[in-house]
Amino acid sequence: MRGLYIHIPFCVRKCSYCDFYSLPGRQDRIKPYVSAVITEARAYAGLSFHTLYLGGGTPSLLGAEQLKNLIGGLRETFDLGGLVEATVEVNPESATPGFLDAAMDAGINRVSLGVQSLSDCELESVGRVHTAARAIDAMTLSRNLGFTSLSADLIIGLPGQTWNTLSAALETLVRLGINHLSVYCLALEEGTPLAQRPLGNLPSDDTQAELFELARAFLIGQGFIHYEISNFARKDHECLHNLNYWRGGEYLGLGPAAASHLQGRRSRNRPTLDAYVENPTGQVEYVETLGGEEKAAEEAMLRLRLLVEGIDPGVLSGRFSPATIETLVSRLDDMVMRGMLEFDNSRYVLPASRILTSNEIFREVLGTGTCGVPGGRHCEV
Ligand code: SF4
Repeated sequence: MRGLYIHIPFCVRKCSYCDFYSLPGRQDRIKPYVSAVITEARAYAGLSFHTLYLGGGTPSLLGAEQLKNLIGGLRETFDLGGLVEATVEVNPESATPGFLDAAMDAGINRVSLGVQSLSDCELESVGRVHTAARAIDAMTLSRNLGFTSLSADLIIGLPGQTWNTLSAALETLVRLGINHLSVYCLALEEGTPLAQRPLGNLPSDDTQAELFELARAFLIGQGFIHYEISNFARKDHECLHNLNYWRGGEYLGLGPAAASHLQGRRSRNRPTLDAYVENPTGQVEYVETLGGEEKAAEEAMLRLRLLVEGIDPGVLSGRFSPATIETLVSRLDDMVMRGMLEFDNSRYVLPASRILTSNEIFREVLGTGTCGVPGGRHCEV
């Protein structure tokens, strides 16, 4: 399995909590940016991919024509004949019928909507540009156009949020037919306006944890599977692209700040739009090759995020030496003895009681004191 990620670093304006590489007010660069992505892609011409993910930023700001150019260029460059999932992230304010139609025509079969909340006060408090009504319209439009794989992002811990507003959002999304939901706890990321000037009505950590538990119980009651720490899906609607990250698979990321993992090497592009447009193939920031034990530990840490699948040492044994597997298994067994992990049905899994406090466990699995997740968001949930 190999995934292709395209980073689209444009946004209408910057949300106060955001530390992703995205730039407001630079939409004039979209056309040259799409050409630059195709140029970078040509450096890897002929590779085949099973999943495609357009993330950001705000990919829906590409508009119909540039989306068509981008996907057309990728199809000419790569072997996408075996593509099983193609996702585009869409923000409600730019979810136009023209864009969604073009996405469908281009072969996109999964829409991930940046809903975040269905309370106008909560949305406004962190600088989101859309309203709850616009988010509902975008969801309805996507469904009516025929997208059968629909995901939404929700944030827990927004200023003023209560179980009343959160449960109303969850009920509405379920009623509208979403079959995948990513639920993130708001984190005060260093350097963001929200971290510099935190609002007085931010829910406490305990309230955040309580809201997450309530949301989890509600979604499980509605038939969703809590398959990854921050992700819930109806059966067969898990995000295949992200599953590949968590299973330690290969991926190519194109665009500024995009990360790649190919043939045992990890690299990342510099987060600089202008330099990228000038010289798309000259922005690789670092290349790292992990040793066997380090790689096995990292893959184990990523797989622990998969709450049902967990770590099956048998799956890892084909790719790592017996000595590496032995070291890893002995560390995991020790963690089971100390109640940090459970061993169930030949798999090591995170106990349900530790989902909200998993970073300590990840650090221990890695043995390095870091718990970065490539391509993922960084907070405990
Ligand atoms: S829309 Fe998303 S990427 Fe853009 S600023 Fe807001 S949180 Fe960041």
